[in-house]
Amino acid sequence: MSTPVTDDLTSLDAAELGRRLAAGGTSSVELTQAYLDRIAAEDGVLGAYLHVAGEAALARAGEVDAARAAGEELGPLAGLPVALKDVFVTEGVPTTSGSRILEGWHPPYDATVAARLKAAGTVLLGKTNMDEFAMGSSTENSAYRPTRNPWDPDRIPGGSSGGSSAAVAGGLAPWALGTDTGGSIRQPAAVTGLVGHKPTYGSVSRYGLIAFSSSLDQAGPMARTVLDAAVLHEVIGGHDRCDSTSIDAPVPLLVKAAQEGARGELAGLRVGVVRELGGDGHSDGYDAGVLDRVRETVELLAGMGADVREVSCPAFDLALPAYYLIAPSEASSNLARFEGMRFGLRVGDDGSRSLEEVMSLTREQGFGPEVKRRIILGTYALSAGYYDAYYGQAQKVRTLITRDFTTAFDDVDVLVSPTSPTVAWPIGARVDDPLAMYAADLCTLPASLAGLPAISVPCGLSEGLPVGFQVMAPALADDRCYRVAAAVEAALDAARGSRLLDELANRGAAA
Ligand code: GLN
Repeated sequence: MSTPVTDDLTSLDAAELGRRLAAGGTSSVELTQAYLDRIAAEDGVLGAYLHVAGEAALARAGEVDAARAAGEELGPLAGLPVALKDVFVTEGVPTTSGSRILEGWHPPYDATVAARLKAAGTVLLGKTNMDEFAMGSSTENSAYRPTRNPWDPDRIPGGSSGGSSAAVAGGLAPWALGTDTGGSIRQPAAVTGLVGHKPTYGSVSRYGLIAFSSSLDQAGPMARTVLDAAVLHEVIGGHDRCDSTSIDAPVPLLVKAAQEGARGELAGLRVGVVRELGGDGHSDGYDAGVLDRVRETVELLAGMGADVREVSCPAFDLALPAYYLIAPSEASSNLARFEGMRFGLRVGDDGSRSLEEVMSLTREQGFGPEVKRRIILGTYALSAGYYDAYYGQAQKVRTLITRDFTTAFDDVDVLVSPTSPTVAWPIGARVDDPLAMYAADLCTLPASLAGLPAISVPCGLSEGLPVGFQVMAPALADDRCYRVAAAVEAALDAARGSRLLDELANRGAAA
């Protein structure tokens, strides 16, 4: 990274950019152009975007500026650029879910979250890179190109929402949406020094989100600050009649919770440190530096008046095998729709082949190795003779994990842990070892399987790379995640994007 960015608009958080837009200090066109310039300069290396919607973005920004100049009443997000993971369908804008099988597909409608962002006046910069169908922890499973971590381009940006994390951490978007099935918002946020929140299952619409594992998938914000994440979450959250699993409950007051947390209002908060996630006897595979930063953060919370205790959740040890049966099972069913007839790629349709042959050729060429691995695994786990032994057992484990959470939340208000057992690893280090790749999800899977909200907030560096602190809360208590994360952020003063980008600029200057 060579461009010094400290005085640049692209180094500011979204809340500050919103203030400048409202006060006339900048225009949406100027802001959008600044991001497009930075994308042009940096994305050749980073690979954060699969599609940059440059012209459309500038046109839209111009409309917002004109409306502002005409004195129209605009919302607080009007004119702010945003990036969307390529798993969200966007009307007329290419959407691939990181797969060749959807290459060339232009969806005829917007995902609900994309429509809500549009209605709020935001400007879509483009679609971000991702592991194919959101399967992975490094974005190396993208069918197009890997994404690199702005902190060190030789390292992974996390996954599967690694395009969104690299875009925001690298100053190529002020904020972005990701999706999290087993950790894909929180882990990439953690390893790139961002805030990422997985909302309570059912509290953000899945309509128009290309399905991986429907009982787990959730969309959520990725941002430089807790406040930005809360603002973005409030816009996309809430009931949607187009999603049959959408919860009809108001979105909690997340911005207010973030503001109160930033003032350190934590007295009396009961915090449970999960032994099974990096605690005594459970620290195999964790970086010592990650555990040190997490311990210091817990001490910080205690110093702010929180009542800290250790909590045991024994079934969490089984989250990994349970997840890697349930998610592939649901994926094998969801991905059956990609048969070469309705969307994107079609191979071998020259009149000489049967329907089945064309479907088979299309799926053979259209899906990458990890997607095929999961379809085969999931089909096997769901097959008549093995259903009870695999899928059925995994669902029972899921119930045990949920019970562990319920018992723990009788005694504490939030549970905390590392977000990722390690910092970002070198590109290529785990591609030939699926189990090592899956191990990156150890800490994020329990909240996914139980459908609970969980946030990752930066808590310092290890080996010069960002470490994430995870805060989990009961269903629909997403505000608690934001409150605690904001307290950590304020206390550490380490999560602000300007800080992160200062650091990058200083390194650039030193090099
Ligand atoms: N890394 C996990 C997987 O590969 C989680 C992915 C996700 O949350 N989308 O399935």
